[in-house]
Amino acid sequence: MSMFQDIERVLISEAKIQARIVELADELNALYDDADLPVLVCILKGAFVFLADLTRHLDFRHEVDFMEISSYGAGTTSTGVVRILLDLASNIEGRQVVIVEDIVDTGHTLDYILRSFTARNPAGLRVVTLLDKPSRRAIDVPVDIVGFEIPNEFVMGYGLDYSEQYRNVPYIGVLKPEVYREGLGIS
Ligand code: 5GP
Repeated sequence: MSMFQDIERVLISEAKIQARIVELADELNALYDDADLPVLVCILKGAFVFLADLTRHLDFRHEVDFMEISSYGAGTTSTGVVRILLDLASNIEGRQVVIVEDIVDTGHTLDYILRSFTARNPAGLRVVTLLDKPSRRAIDVPVDIVGFEIPNEFVMGYGLDYSEQYRNVPYIGVLKPEVYREGLGIS
């Protein structure tokens, strides 16, 4: 059976995502130039597809780095407990930093990242997120650039997982309720 049969509906199509990424990249292109040499920090794992597409539309010199944060484990509800699983390879002191997130939900993860990064004294710090669920916000976090605001639904695809799967789906979708109910049949 195809994994695509688990998907109930498409929330944001591949074409819409790709068109919006060009606009988001243009916003960044207007903010930075070569002399800034910003570091784009991809928050793993969910933002890896977004970063890969975004970076190829940027016209200023930049570096990329990666940070892995645990938030949800295998389920779909936020615990508010956030941990760094993989820290940056680069020293961001005095650097322009752009955090690249997949989704801001309660804001706990981003709040944690922002506090951790601010303590490292970057020259500038901005946040770009592909998705935003403003209705779920528990902590007020500054987000500079938002791709799409979405309703309070658990979404997957385009880097976002359910139980570590479906990250390869090229659009943002919602799974059938029975998939969440019955799980994926793996431990
Ligand atoms: P927050 O800390 O803002 O509640 O959650 C942020 C993280 O939770 C995101 O980086 C993402 O990993 C995960 N998350 C939040 N909402 C969703 C969702 O609808 N789908 C998926 N796959 N992950 C989500």
